[in-house]
Amino acid sequence: MATCAGDTSGEVAGYIPELAAVDPDGYALALCVHDGHVYAQGDTDTAFTIQSISKPLTYALVLSRLGTAATDAKIGVEPSGEAFNEVSVDERRRPRNPMINAGAILTASMLLPPVKSVDPGTVDRVFGDIVEFYSACAGRRLALDESVYRSEATTGSRNRAIAYMLDSFGVLDTSVEAALDLYYRQCSLTVTAADLAAIGATIADGGVNPRTGRQVMSHEVAQRLLSVMTTCGMYDGAGDWVTSVGLPAKSGVGGGIMAVLPGQLGIGVYSPRLDQHGNSVRGVQTCRELSTNLGLHMFNVA
Ligand code: GLU
Repeated sequence: MATCAGDTSGEVAGYIPELAAVDPDGYALALCVHDGHVYAQGDTDTAFTIQSISKPLTYALVLSRLGTAATDAKIGVEPSGEAFNEVSVDERRRPRNPMINAGAILTASMLLPPVKSVDPGTVDRVFGDIVEFYSACAGRRLALDESVYRSEATTGSRNRAIAYMLDSFGVLDTSVEAALDLYYRQCSLTVTAADLAAIGATIADGGVNPRTGRQVMSHEVAQRLLSVMTTCGMYDGAGDWVTSVGLPAKSGVGGGIMAVLPGQLGIGVYSPRLDQHGNSVRGVQTCRELSTNLGLHMFNVA
Protein backbone atom coordinates (compact mmCIF):
# COMPACT_ATOMS: atom_id res chain seq x y z
CA MET A 1 0.00 0.00 0.00
CA ALA A 2 2.83 2.39 0.87
CA THR A 3 3.97 2.72 -2.75
CA CYS A 4 0.49 3.65 -4.00
CA ALA A 5 -0.66 5.81 -1.07
CA GLY A 6 0.68 9.09 -2.47
CA ASP A 7 -1.23 8.89 -5.74
CA THR A 8 -4.12 11.34 -5.50
CA SER A 9 -5.02 11.27 -9.19
CA GLY A 10 -8.55 10.55 -10.36
CA GLU A 11 -11.91 11.87 -9.19
CA VAL A 12 -14.62 10.49 -6.92
CA ALA A 13 -17.80 9.57 -8.79
CA GLY A 14 -19.73 12.80 -9.10
CA TYR A 15 -22.78 11.68 -11.04
CA ILE A 16 -24.39 10.26 -7.91
CA PRO A 17 -24.53 13.35 -5.65
CA GLU A 18 -24.03 11.44 -2.37
CA LEU A 19 -20.91 9.70 -3.73
CA ALA A 20 -19.33 13.06 -4.49
CA ALA A 21 -19.42 13.75 -0.74
CA VAL A 22 -17.19 10.83 0.39
CA ASP A 23 -13.69 11.41 1.80
CA PRO A 24 -11.52 11.02 -1.32
CA ASP A 25 -8.49 9.91 0.75
CA GLY A 26 -9.97 6.73 2.23
CA TYR A 27 -7.74 3.74 1.50
CA ALA A 28 -8.02 0.15 2.69
CA LEU A 29 -6.78 -3.27 1.64
CA ALA A 30 -7.90 -6.69 2.88
CA LEU A 31 -7.04 -10.26 1.93
CA CYS A 32 -9.16 -13.26 2.96
CA VAL A 33 -7.34 -16.58 2.66
CA HIS A 34 -8.52 -20.16 2.36
CA ASP A 35 -9.07 -20.72 6.12
CA GLY A 36 -11.15 -17.52 6.40
CA HIS A 37 -8.42 -15.45 8.05
CA VAL A 38 -8.56 -11.79 7.01
CA TYR A 39 -5.44 -9.62 6.80
CA ALA A 40 -6.39 -5.93 6.60
CA GLN A 41 -4.62 -2.59 6.50
CA GLY A 42 -5.62 1.08 6.27
CA ASP A 43 -9.16 2.43 6.73
CA THR A 44 -10.54 -1.00 7.41
CA ASP A 45 -13.62 0.27 9.28
CA THR A 46 -14.71 2.54 6.44
CA ALA A 47 -17.97 1.33 4.93
CA PHE A 48 -18.74 2.30 1.34
CA THR A 49 -21.44 1.35 -1.14
CA ILE A 50 -20.84 -1.83 -3.09
CA GLN A 51 -22.15 -0.32 -6.38
CA SER A 52 -21.26 -2.49 -9.38
CA ILE A 53 -19.58 -5.16 -7.27
CA SER A 54 -23.18 -6.16 -6.58
CA LYS A 55 -23.57 -7.19 -10.22
CA PRO A 56 -21.86 -10.61 -10.04
CA LEU A 57 -23.75 -11.38 -6.82
CA THR A 58 -27.21 -10.72 -8.20
CA TYR A 59 -26.15 -12.62 -11.33
CA ALA A 60 -25.25 -15.55 -9.06
CA LEU A 61 -28.66 -15.41 -7.42
CA VAL A 62 -30.41 -15.42 -10.80
CA LEU A 63 -28.23 -18.27 -12.12
CA SER A 64 -28.97 -20.27 -8.98
CA ARG A 65 -32.71 -19.72 -9.24
CA LEU A 66 -33.35 -19.85 -12.97
CA GLY A 67 -30.42 -21.94 -14.23
CA THR A 68 -27.85 -21.18 -16.89
CA ALA A 69 -29.99 -21.71 -20.00
CA ALA A 70 -32.81 -19.35 -18.90
CA THR A 71 -30.27 -16.74 -17.81
CA ASP A 72 -28.26 -16.98 -21.03
CA ALA A 73 -31.43 -16.57 -23.05
CA LYS A 74 -31.74 -13.05 -21.65
CA ILE A 75 -28.15 -11.86 -20.99
CA GLY A 76 -24.94 -12.48 -22.94
CA VAL A 77 -21.41 -13.11 -21.67
CA GLU A 78 -19.41 -11.12 -24.22
CA PRO A 79 -17.28 -8.13 -23.19
CA SER A 80 -18.83 -4.99 -24.61
CA GLY A 81 -15.68 -2.88 -24.89
CA GLU A 82 -17.91 0.06 -24.03
CA ALA A 83 -18.48 2.15 -20.92
CA PHE A 84 -20.47 0.58 -18.05
CA ASN A 85 -23.51 2.78 -18.67
CA GLU A 86 -23.66 2.28 -22.45
CA VAL A 87 -26.94 1.22 -23.92
CA SER A 88 -25.39 -1.95 -25.23
CA VAL A 89 -27.30 -4.96 -26.57
CA ASP A 90 -26.46 -7.71 -29.08
CA GLU A 91 -28.34 -8.72 -32.23
CA ARG A 92 -30.78 -10.74 -30.08
CA ARG A 93 -31.41 -7.60 -28.02
CA ARG A 94 -29.75 -9.17 -25.01
CA PRO A 95 -27.53 -6.90 -22.90
CA ARG A 96 -24.00 -8.01 -23.83
CA ASN A 97 -23.08 -9.10 -20.31
CA PRO A 98 -24.32 -8.84 -16.71
CA MET A 99 -21.50 -6.50 -15.61
CA ILE A 100 -22.66 -3.46 -17.58
CA ASN A 101 -25.66 -1.55 -16.28
CA ALA A 102 -28.03 -2.79 -18.98
CA GLY A 103 -27.21 -6.39 -18.06
CA ALA A 104 -27.30 -5.73 -14.33
CA ILE A 105 -30.69 -4.00 -14.41
CA LEU A 106 -32.09 -6.88 -16.46
CA THR A 107 -30.50 -9.37 -14.04
CA ALA A 108 -32.19 -7.68 -11.06
CA SER A 109 -35.50 -7.62 -12.97
CA MET A 110 -35.36 -11.41 -13.36
CA LEU A 111 -35.83 -11.82 -9.59
CA LEU A 112 -39.19 -10.03 -9.76
CA PRO A 113 -42.52 -11.55 -10.86
CA PRO A 114 -43.09 -11.35 -14.66
CA VAL A 115 -45.96 -8.88 -14.40
CA LYS A 116 -45.97 -5.19 -15.25
CA SER A 117 -47.36 -4.06 -11.92
CA VAL A 118 -45.33 -5.10 -8.87
CA ASP A 119 -46.38 -3.92 -5.41
CA PRO A 120 -43.79 -2.33 -3.10
CA GLY A 121 -44.08 -5.22 -0.63
CA THR A 122 -42.87 -7.63 -3.30
CA VAL A 123 -39.87 -5.43 -4.09
CA ASP A 124 -39.09 -5.32 -0.35
CA ARG A 125 -39.27 -9.11 -0.11
CA VAL A 126 -37.02 -9.66 -3.14
CA PHE A 127 -34.57 -7.07 -1.82
CA GLY A 128 -34.60 -9.03 1.45
CA ASP A 129 -33.48 -12.11 -0.51
CA ILE A 130 -30.67 -10.06 -2.07
CA VAL A 131 -29.51 -8.81 1.35
CA GLU A 132 -29.62 -12.40 2.69
CA PHE A 133 -27.53 -13.70 -0.18
CA TYR A 134 -24.90 -10.94 -0.18
CA SER A 135 -24.66 -11.25 3.62
CA ALA A 136 -24.15 -15.01 3.35
CA CYS A 137 -21.33 -14.35 0.87
CA ALA A 138 -19.72 -11.78 3.19
CA GLY A 139 -20.32 -13.80 6.36
CA ARG A 140 -22.04 -10.94 8.18
CA ARG A 141 -25.23 -8.91 7.86
CA LEU A 142 -24.92 -6.06 5.33
CA ALA A 143 -26.98 -2.86 5.50
CA LEU A 144 -28.36 -0.28 3.08
CA ASP A 145 -27.02 3.27 2.81
CA GLU A 146 -30.37 5.04 2.54
CA SER A 147 -28.93 8.38 1.44
CA VAL A 148 -26.89 6.93 -1.45
CA TYR A 149 -29.93 4.89 -2.49
CA ARG A 150 -32.19 7.97 -2.47
CA SER A 151 -29.55 10.03 -4.20
CA GLU A 152 -29.18 7.59 -7.09
CA ALA A 153 -32.89 6.81 -7.29
CA THR A 154 -33.74 10.48 -7.74
CA THR A 155 -30.94 11.33 -10.20
CA GLY A 156 -30.42 8.11 -12.19
CA SER A 157 -31.82 9.25 -15.53
CA ARG A 158 -29.25 7.27 -17.48
CA ASN A 159 -30.19 3.98 -15.83
CA ARG A 160 -33.84 4.86 -16.17
CA ALA A 161 -33.26 5.39 -19.92
CA ILE A 162 -31.46 2.03 -20.17
CA ALA A 163 -34.28 0.21 -18.35
CA TYR A 164 -37.01 1.79 -20.51
CA MET A 165 -35.04 0.96 -23.63
CA LEU A 166 -34.90 -2.70 -22.53
CA ASP A 167 -38.62 -2.51 -21.88
CA SER A 168 -39.24 -1.06 -25.34
CA PHE A 169 -37.35 -4.04 -26.80
CA GLY A 170 -39.77 -6.34 -24.97
CA VAL A 171 -37.02 -8.04 -22.95
CA LEU A 172 -37.85 -6.66 -19.49
CA ASP A 173 -40.76 -8.76 -18.26
CA THR A 174 -41.57 -6.96 -15.04
CA SER A 175 -42.26 -3.42 -13.80
CA VAL A 176 -39.49 -1.11 -15.05
CA GLU A 177 -39.63 1.06 -11.93
CA ALA A 178 -39.54 -1.97 -9.62
CA ALA A 179 -36.48 -3.35 -11.47
CA LEU A 180 -34.72 0.02 -11.18
CA ASP A 181 -35.61 0.33 -7.52
CA LEU A 182 -34.17 -3.13 -6.81
CA TYR A 183 -31.01 -2.31 -8.77
CA TYR A 184 -30.47 1.01 -6.96
CA ARG A 185 -30.96 -0.69 -3.62
CA GLN A 186 -28.51 -3.52 -4.35
CA CYS A 187 -25.90 -0.92 -5.42
CA SER A 188 -26.36 0.95 -2.12
CA LEU A 189 -25.60 -1.91 0.23
CA THR A 190 -22.52 -1.02 2.27
CA VAL A 191 -19.38 -3.12 2.65
CA THR A 192 -15.84 -2.78 3.98
CA ALA A 193 -12.69 -3.91 2.21
CA ALA A 194 -12.76 -7.00 4.47
CA ASP A 195 -16.29 -7.83 3.29
CA LEU A 196 -15.17 -7.67 -0.33
CA ALA A 197 -12.21 -9.93 0.50
CA ALA A 198 -14.55 -12.42 2.20
CA ILE A 199 -16.99 -12.38 -0.75
CA GLY A 200 -14.03 -12.87 -3.10
CA ALA A 201 -12.76 -15.78 -1.01
CA THR A 202 -16.22 -17.35 -1.12
CA ILE A 203 -16.17 -17.26 -4.91
CA ALA A 204 -12.53 -18.46 -4.88
CA ASP A 205 -13.58 -21.46 -2.79
CA GLY A 206 -16.24 -22.56 -5.26
CA GLY A 207 -19.10 -20.93 -3.36
CA VAL A 208 -18.15 -21.98 0.20
CA ASN A 209 -17.76 -19.04 2.57
CA PRO A 210 -14.44 -19.82 4.30
CA ARG A 211 -15.51 -17.88 7.40
CA THR A 212 -18.82 -19.66 8.00
CA GLY A 213 -18.24 -22.92 6.11
CA ARG A 214 -21.58 -22.40 4.37
CA GLN A 215 -22.06 -23.30 0.68
CA VAL A 216 -23.81 -20.18 -0.60
CA MET A 217 -23.63 -20.88 -4.33
CA SER A 218 -22.79 -23.93 -6.41
CA HIS A 219 -19.35 -24.60 -7.91
CA GLU A 220 -20.84 -24.08 -11.37
CA VAL A 221 -22.18 -20.65 -10.44
CA ALA A 222 -18.86 -19.65 -8.85
CA GLN A 223 -17.01 -20.76 -11.98
CA ARG A 224 -19.38 -18.74 -14.16
CA LEU A 225 -18.81 -15.63 -12.02
CA LEU A 226 -15.04 -16.01 -12.28
CA SER A 227 -15.30 -16.34 -16.05
CA VAL A 228 -17.52 -13.30 -16.52
CA MET A 229 -15.50 -11.21 -14.05
CA THR A 230 -12.33 -12.07 -16.00
CA THR A 231 -13.70 -10.91 -19.33
CA CYS A 232 -16.11 -8.14 -18.30
CA GLY A 233 -15.47 -7.18 -14.67
CA MET A 234 -13.34 -4.08 -15.08
CA TYR A 235 -15.52 -2.13 -17.49
CA ASP A 236 -13.79 -1.18 -20.72
CA GLY A 237 -10.44 -1.47 -18.89
CA ALA A 238 -10.84 -5.27 -18.65
CA GLY A 239 -8.15 -6.21 -21.20
CA ASP A 240 -5.52 -4.04 -19.59
CA TRP A 241 -6.47 -5.39 -16.16
CA VAL A 242 -6.27 -9.07 -17.15
CA THR A 243 -2.93 -8.49 -18.83
CA SER A 244 -1.30 -6.65 -15.94
CA VAL A 245 -3.06 -8.07 -12.85
CA GLY A 246 -4.41 -11.37 -14.13
CA LEU A 247 -7.19 -11.90 -11.59
CA PRO A 248 -10.97 -12.13 -12.06
CA ALA A 249 -12.30 -8.94 -10.50
CA LYS A 250 -15.17 -6.49 -10.25
CA SER A 251 -14.96 -2.81 -9.48
CA GLY A 252 -17.60 -0.31 -8.42
CA VAL A 253 -17.89 3.46 -8.70
CA GLY A 254 -18.00 3.61 -4.90
CA GLY A 255 -14.24 2.98 -5.07
CA GLY A 256 -14.17 -0.72 -4.24
CA ILE A 257 -12.48 -3.53 -6.15
CA MET A 258 -12.98 -7.20 -5.40
CA ALA A 259 -10.38 -9.54 -6.94
CA VAL A 260 -10.18 -13.32 -6.72
CA LEU A 261 -7.38 -15.83 -7.04
CA PRO A 262 -9.37 -19.00 -7.79
CA GLY A 263 -8.90 -21.69 -5.15
CA GLN A 264 -6.76 -19.38 -3.00
CA LEU A 265 -7.98 -16.01 -1.81
CA GLY A 266 -10.13 -12.93 -2.12
CA ILE A 267 -8.87 -9.34 -2.18
CA GLY A 268 -10.83 -6.22 -1.27
CA VAL A 269 -9.47 -2.72 -1.91
CA TYR A 270 -11.08 0.63 -1.29
CA SER A 271 -9.99 4.03 -2.57
CA PRO A 272 -12.70 6.24 -4.08
CA ARG A 273 -10.80 8.29 -6.67
CA LEU A 274 -11.61 6.76 -10.05
CA ASP A 275 -9.88 6.63 -13.43
CA GLN A 276 -11.57 7.34 -16.77
CA HIS A 277 -13.11 3.85 -16.86
CA GLY A 278 -14.68 4.22 -13.39
CA ASN A 279 -12.11 1.98 -11.67
CA SER A 280 -10.40 2.99 -8.42
CA VAL A 281 -6.98 4.45 -9.31
CA ARG A 282 -5.16 3.24 -6.20
CA GLY A 283 -7.25 0.07 -6.15
CA VAL A 284 -5.97 -0.92 -9.59
CA GLN A 285 -2.39 -0.02 -8.65
CA THR A 286 -2.57 -1.90 -5.36
CA CYS A 287 -3.83 -5.04 -7.08
CA ARG A 288 -1.15 -4.71 -9.73
CA GLU A 289 1.55 -4.46 -7.04
CA LEU A 290 0.12 -7.37 -5.08
CA SER A 291 -0.12 -9.51 -8.18
CA THR A 292 3.46 -8.74 -9.22
CA ASN A 293 5.02 -9.02 -5.75
CA LEU A 294 3.19 -12.16 -4.69
CA GLY A 295 3.06 -13.79 -8.14
CA LEU A 296 -0.76 -13.91 -8.16
CA HIS A 297 -1.35 -13.60 -11.92
CA MET A 298 -3.62 -16.56 -12.77
CA PHE A 299 -1.56 -17.27 -15.89
CA ASN A 300 1.71 -17.22 -13.93
CA VAL A 301 4.03 -19.64 -15.73
CA ALA A 302 7.25 -18.63 -13.96
N1 GLU B 1 -25.09 2.38 -9.22
C1 GLU B 1 -24.12 2.69 -10.21
C2 GLU B 1 -24.78 3.02 -11.54
O1 GLU B 1 -25.65 2.33 -11.94
C3 GLU B 1 -23.19 1.53 -10.37
C4 GLU B 1 -22.16 1.79 -11.42
C5 GLU B 1 -20.83 1.19 -11.12
O2 GLU B 1 -20.44 0.96 -9.97
O3 GLU B 1 -20.14 0.98 -12.10
O4 GLU B 1 -24.46 3.96 -12.19
